[in-house]
Parts: sequence; structure tokens; C-alpha cells
Amino acid sequence: MKPKKTSSAKPLPSAISQPLWQSSPMDWQPIDRFILLASLVLLAPGCFAISLIWASLVSPEYFNTSILYGLLGLYAIHILVLAGFIGAALKRRKTHPDWPLFENIIIGGYILTVMASGYATGAHFAEGLLLLFLGVNITSALANIDKIRFSYWFVVPAMLVMGWMDFSSQFTFAPLMELPLTDADGKPIMAWMIGRAIIAGILSILIYVCILAVRRWVQREDLYREMSTIDGLTRLSNRSSFIQRGHEELARAKRQTPPPPGSLACIMLDLDHFKFINDTWGHHAGDAVLVTASRIMMENARQYDEVGRYGGEEFAVLLPGVTLDTAAAIAERLRQKISEAAVNIDGHTISVTASLGVACYPAPDINDLNDLLKAADAALYQAKTGGRNRVKLALHTLTTE
Ligand code: GH3
Ligand code: MG
Ligand code: MG
Repeated sequence: MKPKKTSSAKPLPSAISQPLWQSSPMDWQPIDRFILLASLVLLAPGCFAISLIWASLVSPEYFNTSILYGLLGLYAIHILVLAGFIGAALKRRKTHPDWPLFENIIIGGYILTVMASGYATGAHFAEGLLLLFLGVNITSALANIDKIRFSYWFVVPAMLVMGWMDFSSQFTFAPLMELPLTDADGKPIMAWMIGRAIIAGILSILIYVCILAVRRWVQREDLYREMSTIDGLTRLSNRSSFIQRGHEELARAKRQTPPPPGSLACIMLDLDHFKFINDTWGHHAGDAVLVTASRIMMENARQYDEVGRYGGEEFAVLLPGVTLDTAAAIAERLRQKISEAAVNIDGHTISVTASLGVACYPAPDINDLNDLLKAADAALYQAKTGGRNRVKLALHTLTTE
């Protein structure tokens, strides 16, 4: 069974060691994120209520009293419920890290208030929709994304119903408004336009906050992706990402029956006497040699080849659509370039050689990626035992001396 995704994921260690106000809310325990979210959501009924009360005092003739009281009642209930839950959550947070009911109330309450206000003012397809969109943006970082997806499928039919009500003659458009919001000559009422301009200003600030939050999110996502696929020292693919690519390439090669000769070649490369370099010139010199060897491999790879760091000083190259003989020639070129490279460190010039093993799919004993890597590794072993600084082919031998 797939593990159930809940919002009660454990906070990251940084959230435990850092004071709450110094860490990112995305690292907080769920109940703390909900307290923050509920406080932000409180702004919606709060601002709506203040502006409605102010506008109805200045121009009462514009408002349908029963709808006005209905909306103000809704805002009051919303504020009281949220404030009650925030108070209770502040008490529970030490013993309960999560509170899914609170999360449901926050999401559901926000949708209800914004949609009802949008429909009552006739702004449900404009400002109302924008507010919902902003709510989704802020909430998706702080709450369970599956609940927001579920809410989406509630909002869409509700919007369709509202659209149908707009077109139907049985329902009043913008029922909160008793008088039209334009003068007899068609010009918009100035107070209404000022109100909308204020809303536009607030929305612009909120949109910018959303952009900052999403940008942070994207940066994190990039960092995690890089950390999980790239080797930090050499910038080559790490072992797991190399193997993943290998599986994909082999699956692609197998799609053709029978697979054409030279579907996928693999070169395994191990630096010779590398421990000696570390022991003689230090680990930092060894690191510089690793970086240089990696650069040579990358410079000699085609765009669709995959060069990976397979282990400490062991590398592997995948060459899609390359025959054994061509891969052998490429391996020989790599061997030569690595042996000619000079790494200058602390006033010393260090040189290094490499042993390489080459194998290719399809071949009689190679049925999967594991077989291909094993065959290349066996050929590499032969290159080591045969004297190092040479290329050996699985089954055949290419003399390089
Ligand atoms: P051979 O020719 O048989 O391959 O001998 P070797 O010395 O290259 O192989 P061995 O396996 O004995 O030693 C590999 C060394 O590579 C040991 C390890 O400390 C070193 N090594 C592994 N990863 C790194 C790294 O990231 N940086 C540095 N500087 N050294 C590393
Ligand atoms: Mg070695
Ligand atoms: Mg090794």
C-alpha cells in the first residue's frame, strides 16, 4: 500500500534546533503552520467586515440590508471560529504536533467567505477568483496539498453554478448591491472605484509575497534535485542517477527486437594508484586530480552520453548507440588524455593514469544493466591485473601499449 501523505510529516532537524521565528514556516510542525495560516486567513473576514461596515455607514442606500447583515454575520462567525481554534491550537501545540480538523476549518472557511463575498458583490469571477488563487498559493506551502486539490474540485462546480445563476433571470446579480454601481451616464461610482483600487493594492502586495514564497520553493526544489543527482566534488552524475539513466537507456535499446548491434556501450574507468597520490600529496591534491579527470571525461563526452562518478576514484560512461569498437577508441582517447594531464598543486606537478574496461549491449551474456556494468568492471579488472594504464574490452583485448 502506498504510504498515506499527511500533513503530520516530521519537521526537519533545522526546525527543531532553531527558534521558530528564525526558521522557515515550511519546516515548522503542522499545528504551528496552521496557527500562522489561520492568522493570515483572519485578515480576509476582518478586512471584508471593516470595509463593508464603513461603506454601509457612508452610503447605506447602496446595500440590501438582509444580505448585508447575512454577510457580516458570516464574517463574525468566521472570525470567532478561527480565533477559537487559534487559541485552542496554542494550548495544544506542545502535546499535539498536528490538527487536521483545524486545517479543514481554515481551508473550508476561507473558501466559503471569499466565494460568498464574491457572489454577493458580483466580483466572483474577478477579485473573488484572484483571492481564491492567492489563498491556494499561500496555503499550498503551509497545508496538505491533497486537501487543496480536493477543494479545487469543490470550487470549480460552485463557480459553474454561480455562472449559471448570473445568466439565469431568476437570480439577482450582485445581490448585496441595492443600487447599480454606475451613474445614469454609465460612469462608475467613485467610492466603489476607490474601494476596488484599495483591494487591487492589497492584492498586488499579496501576489508579490506569493512570488517570493514560490521562488524560495523552486530554489529549494532545485537544490534537493541537485543534491540527489550530482556528485558534489566532480559535478558528474552520482551513482544512483547514473544507474537510473542506464536503466532508461537499456529499456530504450530493448524496445527494438532484436536490439541493433552497438545499442549501448559502457566504459568503466578507475584511476591507478590513487591512494599513493593521496598519501604523498594529501587528500586535497587527490581531490584536484579527481576534478581534472572528471573534466576530461566531460569534455570528451557527447551531449547524450552519461558520465558518472561510480565510486571514490571509479567512473563510468554510458554511450548510447555506440559499438564496442567505437567505445574502445573513445576509452583509449580518454586514457591518453588523462595520462597527459598535469595537475599543479602546492608547487608540484601531479600526473595520473587510468585503467579502463569496455562492454557493449547487446552481447551473448549481457541481458540487463547489471550484466553490462559487471562485464565492463571485469574488463577493468583485467586492465588492472594486466599492468594498468590500459583499455580492455569485455571478451576482446585492445592493446594500448
Ligand atoms: P588501483 O590502481 O588498484 O586502483 O589502486 P588505488 O590506490 O587507486 O585504489 P585503492 O582502492 O587502494 O584506493 C582508492 C583511494 O581513493 C582510497 C580512498 O581514500 C581514495 N578516495 C576515495 N574517494 C576520494 C575522494 O573523494 N577524494 C580523495 N582525495 N580520495 C578519495
Ligand atoms: Mg584506483
Ligand atoms: Mg577503485
